[in-house]
Amino acid sequence: MLYAFAGILLLGSVLLAAYAQWSVKGAVKKQRLVPSRAGLTGREVAEFVLRSGQVEGVLVEAAPPGELTDHYDPSARALRLSEAVYHGRDLAALGIAAHEAGHALQHRDRSTWLWMRGVAVPLAQWGGRLGFPFALLGASMRSLPLIGVGLALFGGVVFFQLLTLPVELDASKRAIRALRGSGLVETIEEEKGVRSVLSSAALTYVAAAVSSIAGLAQLVLRVFARRF
Ligand SMILES: [Zn+2]
Repeated sequence: MLYAFAGILLLGSVLLAAYAQWSVKGAVKKQRLVPSRAGLTGREVAEFVLRSGQVEGVLVEAAPPGELTDHYDPSARALRLSEAVYHGRDLAALGIAAHEAGHALQHRDRSTWLWMRGVAVPLAQWGGRLGFPFALLGASMRSLPLIGVGLALFGGVVFFQLLTLPVELDASKRAIRALRGSGLVETIEEEKGVRSVLSSAALTYVAAAVSSIAGLAQLVLRVFARRF
């Protein structure tokens, strides 16, 4: 019963992740073809949102080459946009640039979620590397404390992924509010286009959270299958 449940969870998470990737790529591709009426580049949009949010000292720069490498780095106070977003004057660029600026607004507001996610980054990195080895080693040595350490370490990954959800949803909410409030999004159709990009991106974070829970369930079963 438990095995069936964990198997379904794992399969479901793989399918959801594949669907989310397909969906975000499709939405971005489609909205890249739609020029925004405001006509600003992603970089100008990000700078505009930062300025109107009275965020100072954040640099908008080009991200390292690659697709969808856009991110906000709170420690460097840098907002980095991929080439297509940095130079783009389309709805995908508009939405993504405003979303990243939304993270800078969270930073300005000292958002608890953003802060907690920052704290959880090393937990997730170490947990992802060491959780499985520790728990499996604990199982083979029949050491409950070691198993506990392994499960707690991998729990850090789940914790990080779950914290990511409110942070990302809030950044998108701020993006839509800023775009609508400033008139950078003028029509319902434009708003729909921007929303389609942001909501499919949000789905990738949901998929990552479900995957991490499925991973934890697999680990628990593997450890306790050894008749502990
Ligand atoms: Zn984000």
